[in-house]
Amino acid sequence: MICYEYINEYIRNTIKKSEGILKELEEFAKENHVPIVHPEVAKLLQVLGILKKPKRILELGTAIGYSSILLSQILDTDGKIDTIERYELMVERAKDNIKKAKLEDVINIITGDALEVLKCLNKQYDIVFLDAAKGQYPEFLPECLRLLSPTGLLISDNILYKGMIASDDLVVRRKKTIVKRLRFYLDTLCNSEDLETSIIPIGDGVALSYKK
Ligand code: SAH
Ligand code: MG
Repeated sequence: MICYEYINEYIRNTIKKSEGILKELEEFAKENHVPIVHPEVAKLLQVLGILKKPKRILELGTAIGYSSILLSQILDTDGKIDTIERYELMVERAKDNIKKAKLEDVINIITGDALEVLKCLNKQYDIVFLDAAKGQYPEFLPECLRLLSPTGLLISDNILYKGMIASDDLVVRRKKTIVKRLRFYLDTLCNSEDLETSIIPIGDGVALSYKK
C-alpha cells in the first residue's frame, strides 16, 4: 500500500464492484496471486479512455487478460488492442478469457518477449500501457515512445513499487536493482522534452506521460 490505508479504503469503497468476466478474473487473480491492475487504477484507465477515445492500444504484460478486457471497453468504434506476453501459461489463460469475453477480434495477443516484439511493431498507438517486468522499463521506453502517436498517452503501472521508489528505508535488498532502474525510468520520463508526465500515487503508482 503506497498511500494511507484509510484513504485507500475510502477510494475503494467509492468504486462499484465488477460483474461478469471481470469479476471472475479478479477472483482468479486474487487466488493465484496474479498482479492485475488495482480497482482505482482501473477507474483511472476508464476515465482516461473516455477522454482519449483510443483507436489503438498497445499493452506490455497481458497476464490473464484482465487489463486488456478492461481496456477494450474504452476503445473507439472498431478500435483494437495489441498486447504482449512472454509466459506461455499466461498466454493460454488470456486466450481462453478473451474468447469467453467474445473479444478475439478486438484483442490480439502477441507471444514473446516485449523487447523483441516491440522492435518488430510499426503501427502508431494512441495509448501504450506499460505493465511488464519493472526492471526493464528503461529498455522498453524508447520503443514505446517510437510507437506512441503524437498526443498519445503512455501509462506506466507500478512505478512507485510499494513505496520503495520514494524511500530507501523501504527497499529490500533483492529489489535494489529494480528500484534503481525504476527511479532512472521516472527521471527520464520527467525530464523528457517530448513528454509531460504526472505521477499519481494510486494503486502501486501510475505515471501518465502525454506525448507532445
Ligand atoms: N496487465 C495485466 C497484468 C500484467 S502482470 C493486468 O493488469 O491485468 C505482468 C505480466 O508481464 C506477467 O504476466 C509477465 O509474464 C509479463 N512480462 C514481464 N516481462 C515481460 C517481457 N519482457 N515481455 C513480455 N511479457 C512480460
Ligand atoms: Mg501492474
